[in-house]
Amino acid sequence: MTEFGYAGKILTIDLSDGSTASLPSVDYADRFLGGRGMAAKLYWDLVPPQTGALDPDNCLICVTGPVAGFTGLAGCRWQICAKSPAMDPEAFSYANLGDRWGSWLKYAGYDGLVVRGKAAKPVYLFINNDIVEIRDASSLWGQPTFEAADRLKAELGKAVSVLTIGPAAENLVCFATMLTDDGSSGASGLGSVMGSKRLKAIVAAGNKRPRAADPERLSHLAQRVLELRKDTWKNWFVDIPGRTRLRPCYGCVSGCFRKSYQAEGGRRFKFFCQPVHVYWEIPQKYHDDWQAVSLLAIRLCDRYGLDTTVMQPLIAWLSSCYQEGVLREEDTGLPLSRIGSAEFIEELTRKIALREGFGDLLARGTINAAARVGSKAQQLLSASILTRANETRDYDPRLVLTNALFYATEPRRPINQVHELTHALWMWLNWSQGQEDAFLSYDDLRVVAENFWGGAAAADFSTYEGKALAAKKIQDRAYAKESLILCDFLWPIIWVRFAENHTGDPTMESRVLSAITGKEIDQAGLNKIGERIYNLQRAILLRQGRGGRQGDRLMDYLHEEPLQDVFFNPECLVPGQDGEIVSRQGAKIERTDFEKLKSEYYQLRGWEVKSGLPTDTRLRDLELGDVAADLKARDLLR
Ligand code: SF4
Repeated sequence: MTEFGYAGKILTIDLSDGSTASLPSVDYADRFLGGRGMAAKLYWDLVPPQTGALDPDNCLICVTGPVAGFTGLAGCRWQICAKSPAMDPEAFSYANLGDRWGSWLKYAGYDGLVVRGKAAKPVYLFINNDIVEIRDASSLWGQPTFEAADRLKAELGKAVSVLTIGPAAENLVCFATMLTDDGSSGASGLGSVMGSKRLKAIVAAGNKRPRAADPERLSHLAQRVLELRKDTWKNWFVDIPGRTRLRPCYGCVSGCFRKSYQAEGGRRFKFFCQPVHVYWEIPQKYHDDWQAVSLLAIRLCDRYGLDTTVMQPLIAWLSSCYQEGVLREEDTGLPLSRIGSAEFIEELTRKIALREGFGDLLARGTINAAARVGSKAQQLLSASILTRANETRDYDPRLVLTNALFYATEPRRPINQVHELTHALWMWLNWSQGQEDAFLSYDDLRVVAENFWGGAAAADFSTYEGKALAAKKIQDRAYAKESLILCDFLWPIIWVRFAENHTGDPTMESRVLSAITGKEIDQAGLNKIGERIYNLQRAILLRQGRGGRQGDRLMDYLHEEPLQDVFFNPECLVPGQDGEIVSRQGAKIERTDFEKLKSEYYQLRGWEVKSGLPTDTRLRDLELGDVAADLKARDLLR
């Protein structure tokens, strides 16, 4: 491993016996870079497949990548991985966070942190350069996230960064989050893994800056990223003028629409991305200042530590159940006739986080709750829930067919993959409707498809042609990106407002990595690392019993119910052959078409087409011989 870009060590802590140790990053970085790749290999090595998500033997793995700690690149993101309680059956899963906590961990001297075991009483970790301490957190247990973080910062100083859980994770709600002191939350129920270990918070600080092999080249690349990304997100997404202001993550090149606002009392809270939508439309019928209620909802979710990507469709499902007479106020103890009010969101979040009454049922996930309520309640899931991890139906695969492969092969909503084609479609839609500032035409989209998705066929959203290849290319690149780790809102640089054909540069990621490590790697080499990491994750999921072809499945309704609308595209318009505008309203994913798509995809991946299992040849070609040997012993290799 290069001496550049990495801190060199991965800290391991066993909360059962209080022991600490470290692993050399070199054992993981060469083949798996960092981020998702490093976490997946640590998980493969350390967590037996039968381990339960809330068992002490499950490992909470926090990792940075080689880009973390270098500013100007939108590369200071970091990941948390573990077996997750969010889906049934439980599975290895992941969360990607922004803010500064990851860089602070690296500045403390660690590329990653592995926490296993279970403390006898509530604790927090204090990691400050060479000081690693497990400290008593009894007085913090039961505290909401904001209060716990503020108390720790008041005690330890503003220079530290704090990751904390709230009551939902302490009470093992299956979709509980963890929250950084600047509002980034980690989803997929991984907060409850932290709660199961009685780990209230992790505090990081340090001053060990990583070095780049070629700082001058890196600086030029950062400047180039800034030029290419100029005004990418101009006029996108909601805002509250006069109330919100930009609040980029640490080390971001230019920011996106990540904002914050000041609430009563002076503390600032987040306002960005999907959380904004958790309670955005419905309060409008109740309040003059409905935006205050929407902001309250985001705050409550973060305060208790509840995943907004689960809460948004959960609220929609409760509303449908109430309207259809499936749930009543007297059965649930919830003011269902006042969905949209402040009173409702306060009651709902508290009941779930503290597992009071009907909230205890909801804390097990919406799909589970619907199964307990009855068949009509289950039928109503399809309007809002897209994954078996209870996540929101925003980027529907009936609209963007390639997304079907992402949802089918991942344990949770793989937002960094579904964004790629969906954002491209969204940009084209704005252009096709003559929206001011829209720039991505159909001709541009074809060039993008040729450069990034394997061919122009991927720009025709009305057929299955070219979609398996596009899926493989997007996934391999996404896994490399998730291991560097570069932010999804700026990377990959696919479309550019101010460039010929509005087409971006697929070589930027590999050039950034080369400048940091001093080891030259090209785009193909980096994508091959992404493919290796993706295959490793496939092996983890197979070893947990997920199944090959039969495990690659979608929610049944996507095959059975016609598409009606999608939040950003109510008429479901897409570019068809030669740019003709067609609507996918009424479309389903026919099962025979889907199985054919999977077959083509398995072939491209070098897996056995019949079973969807990896082959010895392909895994060895990807330098995963050790993984192949393990799968072979379990009859999961072809
Ligand atoms: S683009 Fe937005 S989310 Fe990404 S690192 Fe920058 S501020 Fe954070």
